[in-house]
This record gives sequence, structure tokens and C-alpha cells, in this order.
Amino acid sequence: MSSSGVAPQAPRRTVGEALAASPLERREAARLLRHVLEVDAARLIAHPERVLTEAEARAFAAAAQRRQAGEPVAYILGRREFYGLLLEVSPAVLIPRPETELLVDTALGLVPADRPSRVLELGAGSGAVAIALARHRPQAQVVAVERSLAALEVARRNVRRLQPDNVRLVQGDWYDAVAGEVFDLIVSNPPYVATEDPHLRQGDVRFEPAEALLGGADGLEALRSVIAGAPDHLVAGGHLLMEHGWDQAPAVAGLLAAAGFQARQCHHDLAGCPRVSGGHVEANA
Ligand code: GLN
Repeated sequence: MSSSGVAPQAPRRTVGEALAASPLERREAARLLRHVLEVDAARLIAHPERVLTEAEARAFAAAAQRRQAGEPVAYILGRREFYGLLLEVSPAVLIPRPETELLVDTALGLVPADRPSRVLELGAGSGAVAIALARHRPQAQVVAVERSLAALEVARRNVRRLQPDNVRLVQGDWYDAVAGEVFDLIVSNPPYVATEDPHLRQGDVRFEPAEALLGGADGLEALRSVIAGAPDHLVAGGHLLMEHGWDQAPAVAGLLAAAGFQARQCHHDLAGCPRVSGGHVEANA
């Protein structure tokens, strides 16, 4: 080991030493190191004496540096688990959130398991919601619309890897891509954060695509478009279900009522926030 001034080569470290020396929180450091070494948690813990190669040490240092600069772990790993599925993610897509699993849960309650139905997702991003729905309801045909071509590429790879054969991805702006088509259920997790929301300057959202987050001055712009267009694209009795911000439930209920939706409902996420709202159009005139 060099104790002189010139020490171009960092000493070889073991897994245990690399974790101990990392400025990151232990759990995050371990997650990044597992990624670099391509090992599971059990193996990492079982072999703290394993010596990192130079390439591994360099890759770990680079990943840790990105994390220290604030980049979300999911983007560094390039993947995120959602509804029991491992999805590819990139900065082109929103990182799927645990609260969005509520959207999937609620939607599954509205899609019959034993007969065909048609489901539309608006703003598919990584494809997380569409793929989760499709895999749990093989009889349903899911159309997933996304405007961003870069996001659509990520969604395409997720569909290819997770292999639901009942998802059709289409590029388009809200309902433009499905003119003349009707569905039994429309779901959406649209951008709903107000442009000036201070939480946009903190944490993971700083790195996520504005297009997937920003819903205009009041955060409701996209929700308005989704709601306004829904009646023309739903069968009689068809449902609309949307994720929204914690304080947007009353506004969304008002928009749903104005668009003629009945039996409006609102579901709370695990943090107790009203998060998913919907309703259905009249069954039969
Ligand atoms: N729940 C996300 C956030 O506030 C926003 C997701 C969205 O706009 N659809 O971080």
C-alpha cells in the first residue's frame, strides 16, 4: 500500500469495506453494490470478504456518485418493481409508485376475469399499469396510449419481456389515437402536479420527465382532458378510473359530475390520501 503522496490506484476493497466506506445510506449502498456485482441480497451478506475487481469498484463508485447527486435509485438500476413485476425504467418514464398499485387493484375489480372486455390506458409511461392489468386479466384487450416516443420504447421493451399478449401500445395524444373506439374501462395516471408545486424541487421527481408530472397551473389540466373525452369512448355502463393528487379529489369529483358520471367513488392509498377516483356512465338510456 502506498503511503506516499502519489497513490493513483485505490486499494482493493472487500464488499464489507466498500459498504462501510460508502457515504450512502447502508441499504442504498447495498442495493447499488448488488446491482454492480449482479448478486442477490443473501449472497452479498454471506460474502463480505469478497474482493471487488477494479472494474466493479469503479462501477460502484460511479453509481454511488450518481445517487449522491440525487438521481433516483430506479434510474441508476434501470428497473423498478411494480405489482410484482420487474419493469425497465429510464428517465423517459415516470418511476412507477406504490400508490399506483391502488389504481391497478381498483381497476381489476372492474374487469371481469371470465369474459373478454376492452380496457384503455391513457399515458402509459413504462407500461406498468397496462401490463399489470393485462397479466391479471388475460381475457381483456388492453390498449395503452402514450404520447412520448421515448417512453413508448421503454413500454415496448417491457411488453416484450413480460409478454402479455393482450396489450396494444399506440402512440398518440390522449384520445387521438383511439378515435371511434369504445371501451369498458378507461384508466389513467396522468400528470397531475401543479407547475409551481414546491415538491418538484425535491427528491426523485427532479429527475423525472416533466411531461409525466406536470398538469398545468392547478395540476388538473390532464385530468380535465381525460374526463372530458371519456364519455365518447365508453360503452353504456363503462367506467373511468384515475389517479390524482392528495388534494384533488373534490375537484375531480366535480369534473366527473359535470361530465355526467354516476356513482362516483374515491379510494384512499396506504398513506390514507384520497388517490383514485372514478365513476361510470349511465348503463342504458
Ligand atoms: N405521485 C407523483 C408525485 O407526486 C405524481 C404522479 C403523476 O403526476 N401522475 O410524485
